[in-house]
Amino acid sequence: MATEAETKTSTPTESALVDGSALAGRALAAAGANHMFGVVGIPVTAVATRAVAAGVRFIAFHNEQSAGYAASAYGYLTGRPGVLLTVSGPGCVHGLAGLSNAWVNTWPVVMISGSCDQADFGKGDFQELDQIAAVKPFVKLALKATSISEIPRLVQTAFATACAGRPGGCYIDLPADVLHQTISETEALSLLSETANPIPPQVSDPDITEVEKAASLLRHAARPLIVFGKGAAYAHAEGAVKKFVETTGIPFLPTPMGKGLLPDTHELAATAARSLAIGKCDVALVVGARLNWLLHFGEPPRWSQDVKFILVDISKEEIELRKPHVGLVGDAKRVLDLINREIKDDPFCLGRTHPWVEAISKKAKDNVVKMDAQLAKVVVPFNFLTPMKIIRDAISAQGTPAPILVSEGANTMDVGRAVLVQSEPRTRLDAGTWGTMGVGLGYCIAAAIAEPNRLVVAVEGDSGFGFSAMEVETLVRYQLPVVVIVFNNGGVYGGDRRTSEEITGPHKDDPAPTSFVPGAAYHTLMEAFGGKGYRVGTPDELKSALSESFSARKPAVINLIIDPYAGAESGRLQHKN
Ligand code: ADP
Ligand code: MG
Repeated sequence: MATEAETKTSTPTESALVDGSALAGRALAAAGANHMFGVVGIPVTAVATRAVAAGVRFIAFHNEQSAGYAASAYGYLTGRPGVLLTVSGPGCVHGLAGLSNAWVNTWPVVMISGSCDQADFGKGDFQELDQIAAVKPFVKLALKATSISEIPRLVQTAFATACAGRPGGCYIDLPADVLHQTISETEALSLLSETANPIPPQVSDPDITEVEKAASLLRHAARPLIVFGKGAAYAHAEGAVKKFVETTGIPFLPTPMGKGLLPDTHELAATAARSLAIGKCDVALVVGARLNWLLHFGEPPRWSQDVKFILVDISKEEIELRKPHVGLVGDAKRVLDLINREIKDDPFCLGRTHPWVEAISKKAKDNVVKMDAQLAKVVVPFNFLTPMKIIRDAISAQGTPAPILVSEGANTMDVGRAVLVQSEPRTRLDAGTWGTMGVGLGYCIAAAIAEPNRLVVAVEGDSGFGFSAMEVETLVRYQLPVVVIVFNNGGVYGGDRRTSEEITGPHKDDPAPTSFVPGAAYHTLMEAFGGKGYRVGTPDELKSALSESFSARKPAVINLIIDPYAGAESGRLQHKN
C-alpha cells in the first residue's frame, strides 16, 4: 500500500516509506522499461500504478496470453525486453503463452508475476502455484524476491539476462508479502543507485581465421546463397546484408520474418525461386536463422547433399547442434561486417550474367509472371488471392515508413507471405517458429506501441483473429492506428471438408470441428467499442474500406467475406496434418 506521504507529494521525503510495489515500478523505470503489458489484479495492481507513476506506460489487456505475445513482439521490435505483468496462479499460467513464445522465437521478455504470501504457500492459498517451477522450461532465468530489498537487483539481472547472448525470457516472482513490505526512501534510493547503469553484455567476435574461411568458401562457390532470418533482423544487420549482397552479387533468401531486410523486389531476391535456390546452392551463408523445420533442417532432399553451410548465430549451442562447415558465433551485424571487410581485400562479384544468378532470376521472374496471372483474375465471391492483391497494393501505396504487417492463419498467412511485399526491416510479424495462432492482436498492439510512426495492418484468418479478438477494445482504448483485416471463411480452414464416411455417429449433426457460425459479423465487435467496422465482399468495397481506414489511422476491423471452400485444410502444411 502507498503511504500517505508518497501519494501526496511527487518528491518523497527521506523518511517516507516505499513499499514493494513502488520499488518494483521504480526499478523497472531505472532498468529502462518504457512500456509494460499485462493484466492487473491481486496482488499486482499497485505494481502497475506505481510503474506508471515512475514513467512506465502500462498497456492493460483483457488476457495475459495476448499481453505476453505483445511483450514478446515488443522485445523483438525494440531490442529491449518486453515486460509482462500478471497476477498469480492462473494469470501466470496464461502468461506462459507469451513467455514460451519469446523463448521459441529467441526474443527478450521479462515476465513479472505476483504470487501468494510466502507464509501461506503450501496451504492452498488464493491462486497458489509453484510459479518458478511452472516457468522453468521457458526461461533463461527464474528469480523470486524473498524480501523487498532484493527487488531492484532482480529486475536489473532479469533485464540484462533477457538480452544477453541469445535473447529469451526471464521471470521475476513477487510474492504478495514482499510487495507489501516497506523500506525508507533513503534505503530505496540507495538500492536503486546500486543497480543503475548496468554494464551492457559483451559479445565477442568469432575467430578471424574462421571469417577468412567463410569468405574464401563464398569466393570460390559456384552457386552461393545468403539466407537470413529474424535473428539478423533483431541484430539490425540490414546495412551489412545490403553491402554483402550488393558487392558480391550473391542471391538472397529471407525467412518469413527476415523479409524486408532487403526489399522483396530487389533483383537478387530468390524468394520466388526458393526451391531452386536452396536445392541447388553449393555454399549457403545462413545468418540469424535456425536450420529447423522452416528451412527443412538443412537436409536433403530440399537441400543438396553436399551443400556447405556457413552459420552465423549468437548462440554457440545452435552452431554446435547444426555442425556447419563453418560456424561463426557472434552478432549478425558484426560478423557480416567482418565478412564484408574480408571480401573487400580481394573483392568479387557474380554479376547478372553469371549462370547461377541468371538461373535464379529467370526462375523468379517466371514464377512472378505466373503469380501475376493468378492475381489478375478478379474472383468474387472472394478467393484468397483477389483480396490479397488489393491489400498488397494498398499497403505498398503507403510508401515509407512502411506499415507493419501482422499475419496469422493457415491459408491467409501462406497466401499473404507469397503476395504481400515487405520493403523495410522488421515490418513483418507472423506466427513464427512455432506457427503460433493467437498472436495477432497482441502483436498489433506491440507494433503500434513500439513503432508509433507506422500504420499496423493485420491480415488474419477468422480463426486466428478469434483467439485474441476481445483485444479490439484495447485498440480503441489506446486509439492505436491498427487495421485488422479478417479473412472470414467461417472456420478453421473454412468450410466443412469432411467426407460422407466422416460425417457419422451420434453427433453427426453437430457443426464440423472446423466450422464457426457462417458469416459472423466480426466488424460489429469493433463497433461495440466505438471503433470502425466494415463488412466487405467485393473489390470496390474492400478498396474503399482500406482507403478510408488507412488514412484515418484509427482502430478498424474489416470483415472480409471469402468463399468457405477457397484454400486447403492445413494450408501448405498438409503433409504434417
Ligand atoms: P527465422 O524464423 O527467421 O528462421 P530463427 O528464429 O529460426 O529465425 O533463428 C533466429 C536465430 O538468430 C536464433 O538461432 C538466434 O540465436 C539468432 N540470433 C538472435 N540474435 C542474434 C544476433 N544479434 N546475432 C546473430 N544471431 C542472433
Ligand atoms: Mg478461416
